Amino acid sequence: MSGEVHHCPYCSVGGQYRPMKPLGQSKEYRCSVCGHTIVENNPSHLCACSHCKATREESNATWRRERHARLSVPDTLTRTL
Ligand SMILES: [Zn+2]
Ligand SMILES: [Zn+2]
Repeated sequence: MSGEVHHCPYCSVGGQYRPMKPLGQSKEYRCSVCGHTIVENNPSHLCACSHCKATREESNATWRRERHARLSVPDTLTRTL
């Protein structure tokens, strides 16, 4: 037991983040309010809660916008550089 308390980054209560409950024997923690999960020592864990899904979709959309912006730069501009 590390004794470390993990808090849900999405559910703040009275200015404090809500502690997440450990799931059984694993190093997985879940927020009982929004369903956000984390895995200790595994930052690449893909959480399926609505907050994380929205964040992922938002970053995908941003990436598409940036890519589109680059592609729409006129040829004349890139040739003069
Ligand atoms: Zn939460
Ligand atoms: Zn999540």
